[in-house]
Amino acid sequence: MKRRTLLLSPLPFVLSSLVNAKPIEKTETAEIVIIGAGAAGLFAAVAAKENGAGRVVLIEKNPSPFFSSTSYSAGSVNASGTLAQLKHGIQDIDGKEEFTEEILRQGNYENDKALVANYVKNAAPALDWLTEKGVELTPSTNIAFRVKRMHGCDLATGARYVEVLFSEAIRLGVEIWFNTKAIELITEKGNEVLGVQYKRGRSYGNLLAQKGVILCTGGFAGDVNRVDRDIPKFAGLPTFASPSSRGEGLDMATRIGAATHLLDYMGAYAYGFPLDEETRRGLIFRGHVMNLYGSITLNKAGKRFINDDQNSTKVAQFLTSHHERTVYQLATEAQLSDFMKNDPIQVIGWDRTKFNQEKEEGGHFINRVNSLEECASEMGCSFDALKNTIDAYNRSVASGNDGEFGRKFMKGQFLSGPFYLFKCTPVVGITIGGLKVNRQMQVLNEYGEPISKLFAAGEVVGGLHGTSYIGGCSLAGALALGRMVGEQLAKS
Ligand SMILES: Cc1cc2nc3c(=O)[nH]c(=O)nc-3n(C[C@H](O)[C@H](O)[C@H](O)COP(=O)(O)OP(=O)(O)OC[C@H]3O[C@@H](n4cnc5c(N)ncnc54)[C@H](O)[C@@H]3O)c2cc1C
Repeated sequence: MKRRTLLLSPLPFVLSSLVNAKPIEKTETAEIVIIGAGAAGLFAAVAAKENGAGRVVLIEKNPSPFFSSTSYSAGSVNASGTLAQLKHGIQDIDGKEEFTEEILRQGNYENDKALVANYVKNAAPALDWLTEKGVELTPSTNIAFRVKRMHGCDLATGARYVEVLFSEAIRLGVEIWFNTKAIELITEKGNEVLGVQYKRGRSYGNLLAQKGVILCTGGFAGDVNRVDRDIPKFAGLPTFASPSSRGEGLDMATRIGAATHLLDYMGAYAYGFPLDEETRRGLIFRGHVMNLYGSITLNKAGKRFINDDQNSTKVAQFLTSHHERTVYQLATEAQLSDFMKNDPIQVIGWDRTKFNQEKEEGGHFINRVNSLEECASEMGCSFDALKNTIDAYNRSVASGNDGEFGRKFMKGQFLSGPFYLFKCTPVVGITIGGLKVNRQMQVLNEYGEPISKLFAAGEVVGGLHGTSYIGGCSLAGALALGRMVGEQLAKS
């Protein structure tokens, strides 16, 4: 279909002037318009169609849905009461209250409680839908939860969900406009969203939405300059987010008066490493999981400083608040091979061959050292300090009591080399603050009133995590709440 016929906008003057008077070549109307083809946008589109919506248009600035943070992600998703849990013999049908409390505790009770309630209610049905479409979900341990509420998927990547949702969206007749960037929300007198102005190539168009626009544009962690400017405590760190996560949806909404909250908090991982100094791209090493197999976390002085079996975000928060940019992990050969045997991914975005190569040859962040002397020399710390740390830790393992640090997962002493030394740095990658929404996922203005016909889901929304990122809730939140808002709008 040719979309580039030169037409003057048939919209009234007031409307075009509100969107910066671009030379509009085409104006058309859909029932529901969704911006962003990540987990939230794709599921919103699918759910809208499943619930009888007419024309649903999904706008995506990339040439495919596989450039989103969802696609880059590790695919871990948290929910309570899933079919997958039942299949694996985990009784969690009555666990929603406890799950809610666990999320609030992780988020330092700063979470948006209505959003958490929406999430807890909708997460299991969303994951069950994926199970029914053939995605194999396996419950796994996450220390935030008493029972296995984190789920990994068969391919250990969020691209698996994208693949399923994308093909379902096509099958159901969702129109997906790739290479199309939403640039402005079209409003009438500032209080009702009529649609969105977009740019494709060199031409501009207006897409009007009868029932509403759903913003699913993700966060802004892919834009390191913005992170440097807006969240100084993370300035200079590498990012693992998709470069597409640039906060454009957030900006479009705030330009028409939307309120935001918790924007100075982010999801960061303690154990990452830089890939490219210039672009500041980095990757996550799942060192927090390796610690469950016995490795330990050390500072530059060769000392332990934290309970290192807690989640990576908490360790990252400690490091960034102390302006620390380097942290080491030390593992024995047995601990590392245990981790590799039991965990499908070590570095998110690398396959096993690539990780093995790094393990054997180093080059990015792993060093094989034959002795503690060699280890101290690699770290640039005093051998005596390191030796004292290791001796004390070995005594803790023997007694089963970690004293000062209170670590529970202590597996194996550090007796003789070789050891593996991982030189890590915190990496940012997930926005946890964002737009304020109400129970219906309507975007709120500064006065707490809903902006008519503007909805949001996924990482563009703030408040689910409170002030501390909870791994597995971001992606599951995008899936669950994208689906919820798509269904709700179709039925409205
Ligand atoms: C490497 C990595 C690993 C992760 N692992 C996990 C994990 O295991 N578990 C977990 O819970 N979370 C994880 N996360 C976070 C999680 O993936 C995201 O928070 C979640 O997927 C966000 O989904 P979304 O649909 O809101 O946004 P996204 O997946 O970011 O999708 C947004 C889409 O909107 C498009 N877009 C943006 N602006 C525009 C515009 N102006 N016009 C048109 N299109 C636009 C983007 O191109 C993108 O395709 C991880 C993130 C990364 C980067």
